[in-house]
Parts: sequence; structure tokens; C-alpha cells
Amino acid sequence: MVVTKRNILLNPGPSTTTDTVKYSQVVPDICPREKEFGGLMKGLREDLVKVVHGDLQEYTAVLFCGSGTINMDVCINSLLPADKKILIINNGAYSSRGVKICEYYGLPHINLNFPVDQLPDLKVVEGTLKENSDIALVYTTHNETGTGILNPIREIGALAHKYGAVFVVDTTSTYAMRPINVYDDNIDFCMASAQKGLQAFTGLSYVVGKRSIIEDSKKYPKRSYYCNLYMQYDFFERTGEMHFTPPVQTIYATLQALKEYWAEGEDAKWARHTRVYNAINDGLNELGFKQVIKPEWRAGLVASAIYPDDENWSFERVHDYCYERGFTIYPGKISTTNTFRLCALGAIDEKDVKDFFVVFKEALEKCDVAVPVKYK
Ligand SMILES: *Cc1c(COP(=O)(O)O)cnc(C)c1O
Repeated sequence: MVVTKRNILLNPGPSTTTDTVKYSQVVPDICPREKEFGGLMKGLREDLVKVVHGDLQEYTAVLFCGSGTINMDVCINSLLPADKKILIINNGAYSSRGVKICEYYGLPHINLNFPVDQLPDLKVVEGTLKENSDIALVYTTHNETGTGILNPIREIGALAHKYGAVFVVDTTSTYAMRPINVYDDNIDFCMASAQKGLQAFTGLSYVVGKRSIIEDSKKYPKRSYYCNLYMQYDFFERTGEMHFTPPVQTIYATLQALKEYWAEGEDAKWARHTRVYNAINDGLNELGFKQVIKPEWRAGLVASAIYPDDENWSFERVHDYCYERGFTIYPGKISTTNTFRLCALGAIDEKDVKDFFVVFKEALEKCDVAVPVKYK
């Protein structure tokens, strides 16, 4: 095996991968229409359902070739019956992207906005559902990756079901990290991409959801050709294949990543992410950094730190210093506050974060940023 430099990615995905996942992509050339490849995808789809504890009769996984946004597009455009509305519970950048998708397709929707550093008010959510009996789909984001706030999906899902709506949740930045159970969490549909929690590569995304609802959606208006959930599901069920060319090498990597996922175990993996996250918080606290989300609301995977009030602070310079030494940090995604993010996903552990903070502290010193950092 060729030795590949190990970079520590603290951006919100793609994540640091193991060498075994990297090299699993190097396989003899294969046409993905061969039965051998179809067999691999069947096992993969089943494993993706098992990660969130779905029963294979009731839930299925539908694969798409694309980044995570394709899942959002697919669920929103495919699961809305004619003459019905989507309710988007929106407290961040990813749910705002869901709203954009509704706007692009011209779908009737309610954008129920809450501040990015606040949890949605469930009384307002319920009031909206009560007043709008034509809401057929409730959509939100589990961990708003832009800030790292954890939304109460179990409660939102229960409200959606109480008012007869289907519940779709974007779990892209929690799936295969923070334990999810589709039954306990009242999830009809969730989603993720291979390059995030599973620690594989970009190009493969998947929706995990209820077969009966997908089958009902056959009758719904068709708003996209490439991104229709029923069409892709039906093709898989009939042929075992993706309708169009799959991301072959990423699928091999994802199979290896899933082997490593089961070997590590759901609880142990979450414990590792928590160790990494705690080390990130300890490091930030030690340097005096403030964060956007209050501790009890954090999803435990993304730290969103506020820029210090120091004329010498330069995200770019600090970033470049760390990057040259193998550590990647990432800008924030909030329009009102300047932030940067440090994320706990990927094949990394506590020691990597400790090593990072040595370099990060050096970067602050090199830039003459006062430590501990100051705020007005
Ligand atoms: C990463 C992510 C996505 C997908 O984003 P892409 O840019 O398409 O990879 C969607 N939702 C959430 C919450 C995410 O963290």
C-alpha cells in the first residue's frame, strides 16, 4: 500500500477516513450492471436501514449519486401530494436550503422561522399544524451543521404524526454518529451521505424511509426526472440496480466503512465522537473562545466559535497555518455573527484534537492574537 499523508479534517465533512477505507476503492474494473455489483448494493441498502434500527420489511434505503443536498431535493420534490403543503421548521442554514428547494419547485410551503441560536417553539409548531390542515409533510434538520444546534426531532415527529403528516428529517450530520432510532424518533424519512458519519467518500447519498409512503408517492406529481424517489426505489426493487450509473468506487469504500462501523459499534463510535467533541470544547474554553449555541442545546458534533474582538485575528491566516500542518478548520455559516467551526466527525480521536490545539495556539501566537482571546 502507498502511504497517504493523514490529514485531520475538522470541517463538517468530508471527514478523515481510515487507510483501509481509502484503499478499498482500488478494485478490478467492473461494470456496475453486473450481478456481482448488484449484490453488493443489496447488502449496502440493508445495512443503511439497520444503522437507524429500521425493520427491513417496513423501511428501505434508496441510493442516489450526488452530495447530500440531492437527498433533500428528492424528499421534498417527491413526497408532497398534489394540493398539499410542506411545513419547514427552520432554525438554520440547512433548513433554509430546504425552503430554497420548495421555492425552486414552486411548492406550497410554510417557512416557520426561528433564530439560529434557538430551539423551535413546539407550541408554535403545533399551532401551525392545527391551523393548516393541508400540511402533508413536515421537514426539519436534526443537527443544524451551520451552528451545531440539536433539534427535538422526536417531539416534532410526534406532532407531525398527531396531525397526519409525514415527517422528513435531514440527519446528514448525525447519521452513524449520534444514535438514531426511526421508531423512537418518529422518523418516516431520514438521510445522509457516505462522506459524513460513515467516514467514506463523496458521491453516494441515501434516503432511508418507509416503503408504504414511497409506494403511495407513485401517485404524487412528478417534479423531477433524475431526482424522483419512487422512480429510483422502483428500479432498485425490480432490478437491484441504480437507475443511472452509480458511484462505483464510493460504493466499495462505503461497504468497507460499514464493516468498520459495525466493528466499532454504535455506542463506542458515539463515545469516540463525544471524546473528540469534549476535547474541542476544552481546547476552545482554555483559549477563551465563546460559542454560538448554549451547551445544553449542542448536538455534540459541531463547535461554532465566535471570532474574537482582536484586530490581529484573521481566520485566513490561522487557517493557512493549521492547514500547512495537516489540520483543516472551517468558516461558519451564520449571516449575523462571524464564526468558525470545529467538527467531531471522521476517523479521528482525542489525541488528534490535542495535537491540533498545539498548532492552533501557535497560529494565534504567530498572528499576535491575545490569548486568552478577548471580546468587547
Ligand atoms: C452536509 C450536509 C448536507 C449536504 O450538503 P452537501 O453540500 O450537498 O454535501 C445536508 N444537510 C446537512 C445537515 C449537512 O450537514
